[in-house]
Amino acid sequence: MRIKVCSFTKNFLFHQQQLQSNSIKRFFGTNPLLRMATQVEVKFTQIFINNEFVDSVNGKKFPTINPSTGEQICLVAEGDSADINKAVAAAKEAFKLGSEWRTMDASARGKLLNKLADLIERDADYLAKLETLDNGKPYKLSLGDVNGAAAHLRYHAGWADKVQGKTVPMDGDHFSFTRVEPFGVCGQIIPWNFPLEMFVWKIAPALCCGNTVVLKPAEQTPLTALYACSLIKEAGFPAGVVNVVPGYGPTAGAPLVTHPDVAKIAFTGSTEVGKIILQSAGKDSIKKVSLELGGKSPLVVMNDADIDLAVNIAHEACMFNQGQCCCAATRTFVQESIYDEFVQKSRELALKRTVGDPFNDSTAQGPQIDDDQFKKILSLIEDGEKEGAKLECGGKAVGNKGYFIQPTVFSNVKDNMKIAVEEIFGPVQQILKFKTLDEVIERSNDTTYGLAAGIITKDMDTALMYTQGVRAGTVWVNTFLSLGPQMPFGGYKMSGVGREGGEDGIKEYYQVKSVVVKIPKKNA
Ligand code: NAP
Ligand code: MG
Repeated sequence: MRIKVCSFTKNFLFHQQQLQSNSIKRFFGTNPLLRMATQVEVKFTQIFINNEFVDSVNGKKFPTINPSTGEQICLVAEGDSADINKAVAAAKEAFKLGSEWRTMDASARGKLLNKLADLIERDADYLAKLETLDNGKPYKLSLGDVNGAAAHLRYHAGWADKVQGKTVPMDGDHFSFTRVEPFGVCGQIIPWNFPLEMFVWKIAPALCCGNTVVLKPAEQTPLTALYACSLIKEAGFPAGVVNVVPGYGPTAGAPLVTHPDVAKIAFTGSTEVGKIILQSAGKDSIKKVSLELGGKSPLVVMNDADIDLAVNIAHEACMFNQGQCCCAATRTFVQESIYDEFVQKSRELALKRTVGDPFNDSTAQGPQIDDDQFKKILSLIEDGEKEGAKLECGGKAVGNKGYFIQPTVFSNVKDNMKIAVEEIFGPVQQILKFKTLDEVIERSNDTTYGLAAGIITKDMDTALMYTQGVRAGTVWVNTFLSLGPQMPFGGYKMSGVGREGGEDGIKEYYQVKSVVVKIPKKNA
């Protein structure tokens, strides 16, 4: 199965179809997908070091939970600093000068990445079910993520033998050139919202450039990364090139960030933890750091927009992936003259969104990731009501099992309300009113974040003026959440540093060595 568009886009299109379904429903035990899901066998639960699955040094384990039920799926080996030390040592050894990995042709690295993509596609159905079990996202979204992961690998496979230096016309009698070289051991820490995709977004550029990796998946969702490790071994990557240590942030993530043999840190997650990582990566050593953090992205709807299209885009831009998306459009700015109609249609659409069993193929929205996030979202909804925003629909939990929340829409939202300032990371849409383009550019930028922004308009001048004015790493025009491995993705301001995807993403994984060779003077 070859994938041509990224999973975000595919999933977005899927959701456009899902919106035709009606009312909030829960389906259990009624469909073939669910029956298959109950047979999902968890095959790997141990730490992956040197191409082997091993228990943690201290023998500890932690539970991973099915967010649809709140029940434990299985226990997973819990790594801490002792396991991080082992994993870093393995990655350091694999990176030694003269090792199989260091002497491998760049094109052969590309072949390995393509092979891994083949294996992920071969096992796409299994991986998608495992993801849905562990993360709770609807099966079709998980399948989109799996296919997006394969596409990301293929893109980077193509780059492996194209990452190259330059010859430089330096003054004097010199032959001067640059070599691009991998950093060495990269420490990578990922969140739970796109577990397999984030895993691949991290390892693909690192391996493409010849680095080795120690990665910590999120404690909520370790299972697909561990299964992918078995595919890494099957693909033929040398031992120690990729090592995965599940565990908790403070006990496994933190020692990875401060480890003296780790040369680069890549992190995706909250801005709060991103700040800690930036500081500790510069405490006893100086590491190259890239961070992809939170956002409070604006989506502007001008009064010339096709209103039904705009309502659909804005709904999906916020609700996609249970609202657990760093670049979600959680501030919908709507121009005054169409505001009331827009709010009414957004409410109708939210009421139609199907919430329930993620293994049911008519479900658009599964559970939130865990009890903490579930409670945090409900408490922010309460804050919104207390601060005077109008709750148009939703706002409550669905059912009494798992972490399901009704799609929620707020109107009459003011810029300083908590729901307009803080990242909610749930299915909660804030609709704000504006009058002029200048005003909405200023209000869009009135945030500490700068991950993404969007505008819906038929007027290209307006679109380009907004694009120029808004301080964000990605700006979408007449679309939202359209991402692909070819385009760089990352944040301005407190949404992060560095980029993932495209040539800019690859640049995060190599350093440049200048070589200057003196050319002897020709004998007279
Ligand atoms: P988080 O705490 O930032 O976690 C992200 C990753 O960092 C996880 O693997 C986590 O480990 C690890 N981590 C936590 N503390 C660490 C430390 N001191 N040193 C090294 N690694 C550490 O995010 P979260 O708690 O899962 O979610 C909280 C909020 O973060 C969300 O509400 C949302 O606002 C934001 N978030 C953003 C993204 C994004 O894509 N930008 C993704 C997820 C969440 P554990 O598994 O133990 O937590
Ligand atoms: Mg889980």
